[in-house]
Amino acid sequence: MAPVTGETEVVCSVCAARRADGDAVAALAWVREVEDRRARWLCPRCAREHVRDIEAKLPAEYW
Ligand SMILES: [Zn+2]
Repeated sequence: MAPVTGETEVVCSVCAARRADGDAVAALAWVREVEDRRARWLCPRCAREHVRDIEAKLPAEYW
């Protein structure tokens, strides 16, 4: 059973990797996108591959 941390499990929307499988430093590199109020996560590897898409879509206040 997973420990209760107050956060839902984060899964990469591209490759289905789980953030919980990485270390704490790697977890910080995960990227969250919000589309139509729905959160979408990208693991560091996928975020790098899709960086151009992300930059085009993210609202300015995210940065
Ligand atoms: Zn991924």
